[in-house]
Amino acid sequence: MVRGGRLSVRPGTDPDRVNAVGHPGRVARLGTLLALALACMPAPAAIAATAGGAPHALAADGSPLDLASVALGQTDRALVLTVTARSAIEPAQLAAGRGRLCATLAGTAGSARLCIERRAGAWVARRGARPVAATVTRPRAGRLEVRVAPAALGLAPGPLTWSVTATPASCGGAVAAQTGGVAPGDGAGTPPPATGGGGVPCGSRAPRQRGTYPGRVWRAVVTGCTAPGTGRVTGGRSRRLVALTYDDGPSRWTARFVDELARLGVPATFFLIGRQVSGEGALLRRMVDAGHELANHSWDHANLGGGGSAATSQLQRTSAAIRRVTGFSPCLFRPPYGSVGADLVARSQALGMRPVLWNVDPADWRAPGAGAIVANVLRNARGGSIILGHDGGGSRAQTLAALPQIVAGLRARGLEFTTVSGLLGGGERLALRR
Ligand code: ZN
Repeated sequence: MVRGGRLSVRPGTDPDRVNAVGHPGRVARLGTLLALALACMPAPAAIAATAGGAPHALAADGSPLDLASVALGQTDRALVLTVTARSAIEPAQLAAGRGRLCATLAGTAGSARLCIERRAGAWVARRGARPVAATVTRPRAGRLEVRVAPAALGLAPGPLTWSVTATPASCGGAVAAQTGGVAPGDGAGTPPPATGGGGVPCGSRAPRQRGTYPGRVWRAVVTGCTAPGTGRVTGGRSRRLVALTYDDGPSRWTARFVDELARLGVPATFFLIGRQVSGEGALLRRMVDAGHELANHSWDHANLGGGGSAATSQLQRTSAAIRRVTGFSPCLFRPPYGSVGADLVARSQALGMRPVLWNVDPADWRAPGAGAIVANVLRNARGGSIILGHDGGGSRAQTLAALPQIVAGLRARGLEFTTVSGLLGGGERLALRR
C-alpha cells in the first residue's frame, strides 16, 4: 500500500483535522460538498476536515481500463472515491450501457453499489438503477474523483469494506450482462471482471482478484464556526435568506422552541447567557446537531457597551462554558441591550467573534401578543433580515406562538431561513470522528 496522496490522514488514525466550510442553514445541511444536494444552499467556502484516502497501488493487469490505484476517504460529509488509471480515462469508454466504473461499499447497516457512467456529455452516478446525488470530476486525464454523501448510499458512520471494478466499453456487452444481475435500487454484490474472447481479462478490479479494502464512514461533527466578516452588523445582503435569532436562553422554554423549529424545518441562532449554560449540554448539543447556531450573549447579561477587560472576561467565560458542554465554539457575540462601542467590537473580534445586532425587533419581551409579534415581523422583514426574539427572560409563550405564522408568512414571500453565520457568509468548522 502506498501512503500519502491528496487526502492526508492515513486510515486508522483519528483525523480531527478542522477547517472552514460554508455554513448553509443546516436543518437541510447534510451533504455539504455535494453540488446536487446543495443546489438550494450557499456554496462551501473551503475544503474541511479530511480522513482516510491513502491510495492502494495496483500492479498492471493490461486490461483496457487498467486501474493503477484506488483510494477511499472522506472530506466533510462526503465520501471521496479516487480512481487512477494507467492511461487516460476516455469518457466514451464509460458511455452509459456500454462501460462503467463501479464501487461496492458494505457498511455495518447497509451496502450499495455505486456506478459511474457517461451520459449526454456528463458524468452520472447511480446506485443500482437509481441516479444518486454525487459530484464526479476528472481532475486529470487518468483520474476520476467521486464525492457522495454516505447517507445517499444508505451507509451510516462506522467501518465499511469496499472494492472497485472498471469495465470499459471496449469489453463489448459486458455491462449489459452485468446490469441484468443488479437489483434496482441497490445491488451490493461485486460482479467479477468481465472476460473478453479466450478468457483474456477485459476489466480491471481492485483488489485485483478478490476481497475488499477496509474503510470507514466518519461522523462529521460541528465544532464551531468562523466569524463572518468584521465590525458590528445588523443584517445581511441576501435577497432570499433571513435569520431568526433568540436571546437570553437557555431557559425552560428553549426545548419547546427547538421542537417547534424542528417541526417547521427551520434553523435559528441562539444567543446564550453563559451562566445559564451549565447542565444544558444535552439540549445544546441537540441544537447543534439539528443545525442551529449557538452564540455568545455574555455571562450574566451585563451592559458591556463600554468594553474593558471585564467585557473580555464575560465573553471568554461564556464561550468556554458553551464549548465545555457542547464541543462547539461560537463565532458570534450579541451585546446585551444592543449596547456596543468600539472597544467592545475590538475585544469581541479578538476572541474570534463578530458582534451581531438585528434589524427587525418585534419587542416580544414586552409581550404585546402573538398577533402583534407576527404583524411586526411580517411588516419589517425582508431578505437579509436578522429577526430578534427571546427564548429566555420570562414567559415566551407569545414568541413561541408567533413562530409558525412568521415562518409561513416569510416563506410565502419566497424567503428561506438560515443561521446568522449562514446569512453573513461565515464558515462552519467540522471535525471527523469515529
Ligand atoms: Zn438579551
